[in-house]
Amino acid sequence: MADFEIPETHEFPVIPTVMEGVMSHSAPFLAKAQFQEQLGFPGDAGLIEGWKEVFLEKLGEMLGKYRSLLVFMDICVKCGACTDKCHYFLGTGDAKNMPVARQDLLRKVYRRYFTFAGKYFPKLVGAVDLTEEVVTEMYSYYHQCSECRRCSVFCPYGIDTAEVTMAARDILAHIGMGQKYSNEIIGKVFKIGNNLGLPEPALADTLEGLEEEVEEDIGVKVRYPLDEKGADILLVTPSADFFAEPHVDGLIGYGKVFHAAGVSWTVSSKASEAANFGLFIGNYENMREISLRIRDAAKELGVKRIIFGECGHAWRVAYSFLNTLAGPWDFLDPNYPVPQHILDFTSDCLDRGILNIDKSENDWMTLTFHDSCNVARASRIGSYPGSQFTIPRKVIKAVCNNFYDMAPETIHDATFCCGGGGGLLTDDLMELRLKGALPRMEALKNVIDDKGVTHMAAICAICKSQFTKVLPYYGMTMDQIVSVHQLVSSAIILEGQGDEDESAADTEEAA
Ligand code: SF4
Ligand code: SF4
Repeated sequence: MADFEIPETHEFPVIPTVMEGVMSHSAPFLAKAQFQEQLGFPGDAGLIEGWKEVFLEKLGEMLGKYRSLLVFMDICVKCGACTDKCHYFLGTGDAKNMPVARQDLLRKVYRRYFTFAGKYFPKLVGAVDLTEEVVTEMYSYYHQCSECRRCSVFCPYGIDTAEVTMAARDILAHIGMGQKYSNEIIGKVFKIGNNLGLPEPALADTLEGLEEEVEEDIGVKVRYPLDEKGADILLVTPSADFFAEPHVDGLIGYGKVFHAAGVSWTVSSKASEAANFGLFIGNYENMREISLRIRDAAKELGVKRIIFGECGHAWRVAYSFLNTLAGPWDFLDPNYPVPQHILDFTSDCLDRGILNIDKSENDWMTLTFHDSCNVARASRIGSYPGSQFTIPRKVIKAVCNNFYDMAPETIHDATFCCGGGGGLLTDDLMELRLKGALPRMEALKNVIDDKGVTHMAAICAICKSQFTKVLPYYGMTMDQIVSVHQLVSSAIILEGQGDEDESAADTEEAA
């Protein structure tokens, strides 16, 4: 068990007593030189020579480049509307985990060096000198933000703390304080093609194994192809889908849907990863390099369409940034000029009546749905506003008879982060992850108690991994988190499925 206290759950969120510095010890491991260099950052797990000048130069560059950041530095009126909206504040009570206080860590330095008042009357405007202590505090608290953007929904000025966090992390990486976990993962994507460092032969084996498993299970040969030139669709999915539970059950589901729809598809060993941790470290150059792999793979394989699997932040990057980072996608089928979400594809198949569904296969479960932050607050899944909320629920309800939503203030655009997003899904931040999961765990417990919910479905690889880890700490079991396409997979009946059983029964009857 944990060597810190797991917060108590309540029927309604309780605003914690504000405490100073109770999480100041929490910080992820710093990236050593090998994990800095490969991303174009200097340093070796610590401040570089002349770091102060580099910090201010980088901050100045960003203020000039990103108008939003400059506006966010100036317009906060300290109204307090965001203070109790962050899951990390609710779970830890640390004053600096209030979104406004988190922004202020950078704002105070901005004021000191970039405003008239801060230069001449720093104390009057709360400006501070840039010191080692200040950047150490920044490293800690900007890694206690999952960039989930919940606070921005409640800010009357729309200040996006996630954007401030991303800017701060990028600046810190440029002065030698990059984060080991995210940088190491990006390095693996560059070298091998995915976050897990799964090489092409291992990937081929895994997909072959899945084909055998599905055939054994349902008696139908469903294909899980790799690097197949000329396929219609390139599936870009998080590498956790290739082996982790419950992710892999979702991948099995995508394959069954493609099979039923009669389309050809393939995974690429070159772009065998949907995740883009360049977003988490706030660095557009790395985000772009990761994105270009997908473009190259799509061109090499000659696909007509790109579909993303269940991954929250990957979908945010695909939906919001991919065109700018790696477009134009003019070589794709003009009917599908931008990447599509797998749920959009499945929803369309349901509308066209081409999926044969037996909902009763999921009757042993009562479901609820966790809206993943990056999908909920940064994208759509279909073409209309709010489709990121309605389409997942529509698909779940099409394949399950028992579904209940969690409390309205904890879903849709007010959804709570799982606690492990934004590059924080690392063991060195376990205390933060467990405490930050509190609001979601409370909402889940309430529907378990009131509605008899047994399982929670999600469409994000990070959420699934995080919940698998934290559910047991809150008195639940790790298998209570499921993939949405796992539910589809259980309910879908493919042509020829069960034929062997029927013919065996016929033979028995005839005998
Ligand atoms: S973006 Fe999310 S994690 Fe970051 S301060 Fe806002 S609510 Fe907290
Ligand atoms: S809600 Fe917005 S304006 Fe109000 S304190 Fe928070 S960041 Fe500042």
